[in-house]
Amino acid sequence: MAFDVVIRGGTVVDGTGAPPKKADIGITGKRIATIGDIPATGSETAKTIDANGLHISPGFIDVHSHADAALLTDGQHASGIRQGVTTEIISPDGLTLAPLSPENYKMYSWYLSGILGIAPQDIDMSSIEAARKNYHHKTSCNVAIFAGHGPIRLEAAGMNDVPLTGDRLNAAQTLLRESLEQGAVGFATGLSYYPNSWSDTDELCALMEVAREFDRPMSIHLRNHNKDRAFGDGGVPEALEVARRTGTKLHFEHFRTDAKSAGQVDQIMEPIDKAKSEGLDITLETYPYPVGSSFPQAFFPGYFHEGGPEEMLRTLNDEDKRAELIRRMSEISYTAPAGNVWTHINSEKNKHLEGWLFDDVATEWGVSVEEMMARMMAEEALACGMRVAPPGNVTIWRQVEEDIMQLMARPDYMVGSDSIPVGGMPHPRAYGCFVRMVGRLRRRYYYPLEQVVQRMTQNPAERFGLTDRGVIAEGKFADLVIFDEQKITDRSSFEDPKVHPEGVPHVLVNGKLAVENEAVTGELAGQAIP
Ligand SMILES: [Zn+2]
Repeated sequence: MAFDVVIRGGTVVDGTGAPPKKADIGITGKRIATIGDIPATGSETAKTIDANGLHISPGFIDVHSHADAALLTDGQHASGIRQGVTTEIISPDGLTLAPLSPENYKMYSWYLSGILGIAPQDIDMSSIEAARKNYHHKTSCNVAIFAGHGPIRLEAAGMNDVPLTGDRLNAAQTLLRESLEQGAVGFATGLSYYPNSWSDTDELCALMEVAREFDRPMSIHLRNHNKDRAFGDGGVPEALEVARRTGTKLHFEHFRTDAKSAGQVDQIMEPIDKAKSEGLDITLETYPYPVGSSFPQAFFPGYFHEGGPEEMLRTLNDEDKRAELIRRMSEISYTAPAGNVWTHINSEKNKHLEGWLFDDVATEWGVSVEEMMARMMAEEALACGMRVAPPGNVTIWRQVEEDIMQLMARPDYMVGSDSIPVGGMPHPRAYGCFVRMVGRLRRRYYYPLEQVVQRMTQNPAERFGLTDRGVIAEGKFADLVIFDEQKITDRSSFEDPKVHPEGVPHVLVNGKLAVENEAVTGELAGQAIP
């Protein structure tokens, strides 16, 4: 038999949770042709990879990636592919760049520049189909896209606080239906972001009626803005209510304990387990860190976002309006912005403040933290992002990590990095999420390798309908990670976040080597999937 690639002598962790076993893998074209003993003689092979002493698993699938724009500006995407992430599901939280008309693309890509970075402007993102073409064979990894609440609501109602009813609702439903027909893998919303947060629970239900026609899930970042519009005051009760009323699948984004709830896994899972026992179809995801990352406008109430970036800058640049904005921050439930760190700042003027604590910048500028934040957003025209500083108490930090690994033992969990791969001091999850979990934390908490791999491969492939991916079997796509299970680990940290991992020598995407000997190859064999 003739193969394009043969991987010899490795131990296969096939993604199903089955115990690892030694086998050679023969690849022809994009797919796995044979698994078993491949004799050294009698088979023609263009390329042989020696995997003696190494493990081979399906490529990791990231169910929560904010690389929407990063992948368009640098398709090599070393931060993900070097970890073994062969598929990125972009557009989580409903924050994305398609489907958008040219005018709305210009406006919304600007609005999102604090999270997504600066997106290229000269591309067609007017539909999911058009967006898929911008990624197809132009990235090292495969790309799947959610239909995002943000663009769909923008196209139907603009950047305005108006209810989606009547014609507006019809327009949104039509756009969602088209997006799902064109291959979007679910509906994603983030209810602390705009225009998403101007919705109420009825709107979410009306949109999920459409997703039900396609049996696609809702991926939700729980509501903490405009809670008065939500069933049960937002949060978990609202998400469960949508699933209950519409009979659709539900996926919780970044669901874990934090510094306040450390050690209380049973308590945070109680309402979800109760809903599951009533028959609701629920999955969840997390990343293995105790704190998150976002953009500063998430701290400000809904009225500030109306009209989009130009209006927002007018508010920020007017002393009276800025003072009122800061006064009204308390209208939404927010954690005090002190203790955050700037991860990315666009201008040369302020770039040196990347990595600085908000409190220290405020002291330097001689203003309050809130005032500093508003001024930075004005000076940067919104192109700035932040993360939360990890708990100073390392015991709490370790407890949250232990909780996360306890959550990963559940068969309904998967991994979403929530990576924001922009700026000089990003959250370390962009370079370390998967390898931290499969390496450092698996070993620390004596977690079975085949189980953590299953959560990163078969689980997400099944949940989001990624055909022929997520397991190693004959006929499946050859998305593979070859790693040293003793060495694999993250090297990115909060103080030095842009460092690639170790212990992952080779990564294949659709049968082609995207990483060889711990270096990216330049191969852009990723496809727009499913
Ligand atoms: Zn996110």
